[in-house]
Amino acid sequence: MNIMKFGGSSLADAESLRRAARIVAAKTQVPLVVVVSAMGGTTDRLVEITSAAAASDQVEATRLVEDLKKYHQTEAHLVIESDLQPQLEIFLETQFSDLYEAVVKLATLGSLTPQLSDEIASFGERLSSYVVTLMLRSKGVKTALLDSREVIVTDDQFTQASPILDATRRRLLDIVPQLHLENEVIVMGGFIAATENGDITTLGRGGSDFTASIVGASLAAAEIQIWTDVDGVMTADPSILPEARRLRVLSFSEASELAYFGARVLHPSTVIPAVDSDIPVRVLNSQKPDVEGTRIISKCPPSSVTVKSIAYKESITVVDIRSTRMLMAHGFLARIFEIFDRFGTAVDMISTSEVEVSLTIDRTDQLNEIVDELKKFSEVTHNAGQAIVCLVGDNLRYTPGIAARIFSAIQNVNIRMISQGASRRNVSFVIEESDLHTTISALHNVFFDKVDKEVFA
Ligand code: ASP
Ligand code: MG
Repeated sequence: MNIMKFGGSSLADAESLRRAARIVAAKTQVPLVVVVSAMGGTTDRLVEITSAAAASDQVEATRLVEDLKKYHQTEAHLVIESDLQPQLEIFLETQFSDLYEAVVKLATLGSLTPQLSDEIASFGERLSSYVVTLMLRSKGVKTALLDSREVIVTDDQFTQASPILDATRRRLLDIVPQLHLENEVIVMGGFIAATENGDITTLGRGGSDFTASIVGASLAAAEIQIWTDVDGVMTADPSILPEARRLRVLSFSEASELAYFGARVLHPSTVIPAVDSDIPVRVLNSQKPDVEGTRIISKCPPSSVTVKSIAYKESITVVDIRSTRMLMAHGFLARIFEIFDRFGTAVDMISTSEVEVSLTIDRTDQLNEIVDELKKFSEVTHNAGQAIVCLVGDNLRYTPGIAARIFSAIQNVNIRMISQGASRRNVSFVIEESDLHTTISALHNVFFDKVDKEVFA
């Protein structure tokens, strides 16, 4: 069995929907589970609808719901054969009246709970999975729809729920093989799930990859295919560096290092269930299905390549925490981290000196509260507009002189923090966002000047 996951931009309109259907129809030699995101931008729209309703702006919320309905009707009608149109019409009417009801409830209450926010966000994948199911049936593919809320079991951390893997695996194993007896393809919505009690949850933004990976791991899939709109994992972001090349193969550990940065390609948590079950993940471009993509496997064949990819993350905030009392004091870092933890803010990079700790965060919604707490025992400053650049490669740790090559390539760039992870598979540093292009381009010239054809396309 294979898992095929299609992202929202691969399902954004009739043309891309048809393309996805052709890809699926061509691969039904093995049983498939197709995991779909919401159709292009729908989750963002649902978030806007939620905000408008929460602000009791019912007029705006209603307008947005109507737009979303029209969008789904228009695109879906174009890809579904006439026999199935009445079914589609009824489904869309019911879903959108349910959505409308949830919106009115929220606008009237005027207070948003994470639970209600998930209920509204869940409509995207409920809609897309149904549309894709009918579309595949229209093409003559025997297709079953499986409601993810019935099989993906999570805790009740609404908007950011964690899967309960045992229960999920049990349910999937109960249902999926049965459905595959009569169907070539099973379609499921990504991102959405439910608690044991049946309350709707979501796995966090971008969570469809995670769904694909959970399903793949639970069912011991042969391969998990992530169909996106890029050719695979690249040596650098091609939107800032057109000469970036595709990687043919990447190890799971390299992919996990990149995942935090490469949200455009893979969701960070995606990799975990797949790695644990040793299932290869392949990233593919739905616009160019003949390009073989990037295979992510547990161990790459030996090669002399050191740097595989240069990733970056913008909109980083650096927090500097200074305290003379830190001198000789134990428990200082624990105290700092306890505060970030208490406010649910992940710290990504950290560097310390005798009297100072610098760290980076990308969520700043709780920053004021955090700073107030830190100020009780230290001086604190923070700067937004920073970027982390990260070079990744399994062989970095066996290669002396890498740091010298990196930093001599970017002599004129002001570097704020440097860190090398314990795995020594990455070297990361923080710069001003405005230096990003110069930095990545200079590093790319140094490390991808001559490339190994086995590793790079
Ligand atoms: N539709 C959800 C989102 O936009 C999940 C996903 O696309 O992976 O975040
Ligand atoms: Mg997406």
